[in-house]
Amino acid sequence: MKIAILPGDGIGPEITAQAVKVLHALDERFEMESADVGGAGYAAHGHPLPPATLALAKAADAVLFGAVGDYRYDTLERALRPEQAILGLRKELGLFANLRPAILYPELAGASTLKPEVVSGLDILIIRELTGDIYFGKPRGVRTCPDGPFAGQREGFDTMRYAEGEIRRIAHVAFQAARKRGSRVTSVDKANVLETFQFWRDVVTEVHEDYQDVELEHMYVDNAAMQLVRAPKKFDVIVTGNMFGDILSDAAAMLTGSIGMLPSASLDANNKGLYEPSHGSAPDIAGKGIANPLATILSAAMMLRFSLGKVEQAERIDTAVKRVLAQGLRTPDIHEEGTTRVGTEEMGDAVVKAL
Ligand code: ATP
Ligand code: MG
Repeated sequence: MKIAILPGDGIGPEITAQAVKVLHALDERFEMESADVGGAGYAAHGHPLPPATLALAKAADAVLFGAVGDYRYDTLERALRPEQAILGLRKELGLFANLRPAILYPELAGASTLKPEVVSGLDILIIRELTGDIYFGKPRGVRTCPDGPFAGQREGFDTMRYAEGEIRRIAHVAFQAARKRGSRVTSVDKANVLETFQFWRDVVTEVHEDYQDVELEHMYVDNAAMQLVRAPKKFDVIVTGNMFGDILSDAAAMLTGSIGMLPSASLDANNKGLYEPSHGSAPDIAGKGIANPLATILSAAMMLRFSLGKVEQAERIDTAVKRVLAQGLRTPDIHEEGTTRVGTEEMGDAVVKAL
């Protein structure tokens, strides 16, 4: 099995190196090949997503991605900026399902902004649709307002839309994920106000007929936002559209308190995927050897589970991460009094040892 390693910018190379180290320490052998992406792609080949990088990603069974973003290239025309690499990869690889687990590790309970009893044991999975919704719908732009009290003024407008097949395929991903975790899907929409999301609700309900063993509940997004900070443990799998998912997944991430701990997966129709930490390239700490590599290491575990069919190896990594936390090892972002402060490499080595 072949894995494309795309380290990218900022802390990307430091943290992906740790995940690669962990993959090498497993019983399975994986073919791994690296390529430049983001600012590093631009610097070496004049493009954030160089053709050779894209070809490697397409040929691989899965992609392990670090992070992109480098302020030195922020003044380039939009198409050449580092962030375009991830958008290009999503599009070219047909990635439509973004999976973001939010897990609170008991050892890190102090990092959450919520009371321990509200978040302890938190383990939810947010599934965000990536290709549709108001983010991509056309027409869009700025025009002259045609009617109403503001007629004749300028107005901005976008178009919200979801195709049936687009909703069906993300619903299948959600129900299948819930089946593996053994319980419930909450589909989040705004069916009371939006035609698009009444349609979303109807289609999700239809797809649910194939998954009678999974419980389905529908919830309006405003209520979901409230429940997420009031009683987040009520949720198991949340499935929602592109915009609501963007917002809710960031909120859920903060429930766990530590962005350096959160992995993510973006999947296509055949479970091929791109795996990356939920955080960015963190230029403020790049090169200092203090970045938390656990989000990337946990992303590698998701890759084994979802794309490579190596569930046991994935569980070994998850267990090893829990073990190093139990040992009290902490990078500075999650450090508290009474724990042992370690750097990026030491943390990677500790996970390898715990395996
Ligand atoms: P993006 O636009 O790519 O999401 P961002 O600027 O919003 O990037 P990050 O790059 O994720 O955000 O950084 C936000 C803050 O979190 C920074 O202070 C950064 O140092 C910190 N941070 C991010 N990732 C890590 C990590 N793995 N370990 C430690 N700190 C991190
Ligand atoms: Mg950000």
